[in-house]
Amino acid sequence: MNEVQLEVAKAYPNDSGRGIARLDPDTLLHLKLSPGDIIEIEGAETTAAKVWRADRQDWNTDTVRVDGFTRQNADVGIGERVTIRKAEAEKADKLVLAPPEEASVQFGSDAAGMVKRQILKRPVVERDIVPVMSSTNHPFMRSPGQAIPLIAVETEPEGVCLITEDTEVELREEPISGFEKTGGGITYEDIGGLQNEIQRVREMVELPMKHPQIFSKLGIEPPQGVLLHGPPGTGKTLLAKAVANETSASFFSIAGPEIISKYYGESEQQLREIFEDAKEESPSIIFIDELDSIAPKREDVTGEVERRVVAQLLTMMDGLETRGQVIVIGATNRVDSVDPALRRPGRFDREIEIGVPDEIGRKEILQIHTRGMPLSDDVSLDHLADETHGFVGADIESLTKEAAMKALRRYLPEIDLDEEEVPPSLIDRMIVKRDDFSGALNE
Ligand code: ADP
Repeated sequence: MNEVQLEVAKAYPNDSGRGIARLDPDTLLHLKLSPGDIIEIEGAETTAAKVWRADRQDWNTDTVRVDGFTRQNADVGIGERVTIRKAEAEKADKLVLAPPEEASVQFGSDAAGMVKRQILKRPVVERDIVPVMSSTNHPFMRSPGQAIPLIAVETEPEGVCLITEDTEVELREEPISGFEKTGGGITYEDIGGLQNEIQRVREMVELPMKHPQIFSKLGIEPPQGVLLHGPPGTGKTLLAKAVANETSASFFSIAGPEIISKYYGESEQQLREIFEDAKEESPSIIFIDELDSIAPKREDVTGEVERRVVAQLLTMMDGLETRGQVIVIGATNRVDSVDPALRRPGRFDREIEIGVPDEIGRKEILQIHTRGMPLSDDVSLDHLADETHGFVGADIESLTKEAAMKALRRYLPEIDLDEEEVPPSLIDRMIVKRDDFSGALNE
């Protein structure tokens, strides 16, 4: 049978959430494929994607670029190999989508139609995650700009199905159990810039989780704790969630200040329980935000709670012995305020600095946060990247949201808030313009 084995690589920023696989012309020729054709991607699981031609820099690299959802659907990570072959896709008569266990979504009355329009001509396999963008310009969809990962719980027929105008798409609000999706659907494509940082986190966290035998063979201990440090809003939390997602690890999140204050008197108990749960559900990532907040302050003579929590954390980390199956990722804006005891060997002994993005990073972040937005032709992301010196990821995210809100205000007079549905013709017309960004920038 005509098939090839290729190495999986990260999708281009604009491809994410679109069910696209990028192949080079040689591979297309070899498999007798044309752009737009459907392929099967077989990793530990099998999924499908639509083929597009890769950019020139990727030619002859023996790679296939797919996004994090497709990687999850094929159950493979970046750098692993998959088998690719042309798919026999049949037209889908029916597709039923439902949110994963931990998600709750509300669909507007015309949501099924919108979803269908988004996934038209795309292949779906039963059990696939189908990311659906809730576009910013739609007042009836929650969490604008974010992909909602829905699960294809049923397709008719089975196998690789193609969504067409005639497909009946049904949305269920009832979450489907048995699909463990972690990290809220965040993947590496949701992170702009930080190429080297992602690579280092992958080596430190993904490698020991997926291939513990490498470490035992070489007689080295996988890291227990990784410390991410840098200014707020640069993507530390995002990175921790993405790693959890890409490794299919359970994700436990602890807010440093919260563990100190909220559970007054119960902080250690709380911490112990989280570590126990993480062990039980391993592989796991425990993310501790604002790690510095659980350091006893020098000026604070007592700092009793902090001292006890630090002691408990040290005990838990020293007792992990999970050989990389539970990894603690700490984040801080003030690395010097982290209790030195926490930074000793066997604890948070790996450090990665997450810095303010440069112009290229800013452009990638802009691409990510305008992914679901209809942009007018006069919007230049290059230009915006140039104009946003000093912005961190969180600033860029608010900028794009603000620009979309400005655009929305322009259309508000045409929207009748008492009507349940906004005229589709209006929705089709909505765009975010250069002036919306300029306005948002000048605020
Ligand atoms: P930190 O943990 O470093 O304080 P977060 O990861 O919580 O920052 O970032 C806050 C938000 O800002 C994210 O949810 C994301 O929308 C946006 N953001 C921050 N950094 C990036 C980045 N590098 N790429 C894309 N978005 C980013």
